Parts: sequence; C-alpha cells; structure tokens
Amino acid sequence: MDKIYIVGAGPGDEELITVKGQRLIQEADVVLFADSLVNEKLFTQVKEGAEVLKTSGMVLEEMVQIMVDYVRAGKKVVRVHTGDPAMYGAIMEQMVLLKEAGVEIEIIPGVSSVFAAAAAVGSELTIPDLTQTVILTRAEGRTPVPEKEKLRSLAEHQCTMAFFLSATLTKKVVKELIDAGWSEDTPVAVVYKASWPDQKIVRTTVKNLDEDMKKAGVRKQAMILAGWALDPEIYKKEYRSKLYDKTFTHGFRKGVKE
Ligand code: SAH
Repeated sequence: MDKIYIVGAGPGDEELITVKGQRLIQEADVVLFADSLVNEKLFTQVKEGAEVLKTSGMVLEEMVQIMVDYVRAGKKVVRVHTGDPAMYGAIMEQMVLLKEAGVEIEIIPGVSSVFAAAAAVGSELTIPDLTQTVILTRAEGRTPVPEKEKLRSLAEHQCTMAFFLSATLTKKVVKELIDAGWSEDTPVAVVYKASWPDQKIVRTTVKNLDEDMKKAGVRKQAMILAGWALDPEIYKKEYRSKLYDKTFTHGFRKGVKE
C-alpha cells in the first residue's frame, strides 16, 4: 500500500529532530515542508536528485495531490511539520484526503516548541505541590476557540499554561488570566524562536506581558509559558517530588522512616 510519512521537525535546532525523522528525510525522494519555522538545514543531506518542496504557496488539495501523485509513482514522500505534528499542525485535513486517496500515513513525533521553550528557560512545568497540570492552548484570534475552552475558564485551574499562536494577542491573554483570578505578578516566560541561534527570552509577569513583548519586539514565533512554575526564584523554594523523597516507597526503591 502507498504510504507517506509525516515527520515532526522539532522546534528549530536541526539536532532536535528524532533519529527516525532524520533517517526518513535522508531516504526521501520528495520532501515537503511548510513554514519558516522548519529549519532548512534539515534538508542538506537529502538524496541526490531528491526534491524539496515548499508548500506555503499551495492550497490543501494541490499539496495533497502532489503527495498522492509522487507516492503512486513509487516515490518515498516525507511531509515535515514544525515541532510535533500533533499540535496545531493542520495534519488532520491532509490525512482525511490522503486516506480518501488510499494512502497510508505514519506519523513520527517531534520536540514541540512548548518543550523547547521550557528547556530554554530551564523550567519544569509540573512542580510538586505547586502544579501538576499543563494546559496547551491558544488565545482566540481569527481562529475561533470552542465555547467550553474559553481562556478564562481554562485559566481558572491556575496551572501552568502554554500559549501557541498567541504572540499578537497578549492583551487578550492578560485580561482573561486576570479575570480568572491570576495575580498580576504571576511569572511569564516568553521564548521567541526557541532553539534557533536568534532565540530570545523575555521574562515578565502577567501584568507586564504585553508591554515587555512590545519592548522586545516579539510579535510572532513565540511560545508564552505562564504560571508559578516559571518563577525565576523557584530555585530558592522548597519543592520536592515524591519520586526522590527518601520516605516514599515506589516500584524501584523502598522508603525509609524519618
Ligand atoms: N507543531 C508546532 C506548533 C505549530 S503552531 C509545535 O509543536 O511546536 C506555530 C506556533 O508554535 C507559533 O505561533 C509559536 O507559538 C509556536 N512555535 C513553533 N516553533 C517555535 C519556536 N521555535 N519557538 C517558539 N515558539 C514556537
């Protein structure tokens, strides 16, 4: 059966792709990729004669038709998406058409920008006793968000929140977080182009988010991480997980009484 591969490119740094994703790109006859957030250095080692196509100027049907035509001609086709394809990758609409055309799909995960951003700021997003949940979401802009997922209601959990596609919508983010009861001094870390050579980090608070991003000139390609897990002072605080707590017994280690 004809098959195409959807590969997560990772956040930017060409070394942050999986070994499997890299191998598939090297074996491909045709590579398609979409946007400015995919590092073209990933394609320096394609096979001789392999075609590398930019899809940004194409509409969905056209792009899928190209993939189908090549795969039917016996070519190995690899579609590359930024970060992990499962997050805002618009892969479902491609997969529906590919399946209709009888093409099988295998997805290779990638390092999402949410995790590259957390790494860049040196954070754990789930701190014991502080927060054990991360909400991956976006602010509502031209793309609507379902009623039950309005930012204000999601924010009521006051867990860590990661905002994709929201760099131009910071005023709205701030308003919704405050309306949900977040304190103005809640830490926020913004990472522009995480893992790229021109990566920029803006550490701020809910109150100053909009202004500080404006000052830093960050209005696109940014991951916004918000919540007390992003507190730059967290190193001075006493949060300890049960996993390494000496009184806690688990599958690999017996706890001791204090
Ligand atoms: N699938 C991608 C997300 C695609 S949506 C992933 O898993 O990362 C595009 C949004 O992702 C951007 O608006 C931005 O919010 C975020 N993003 C992607 N790459 C980024 C990077 N290197 N640094 C910061 N944010 C990034």
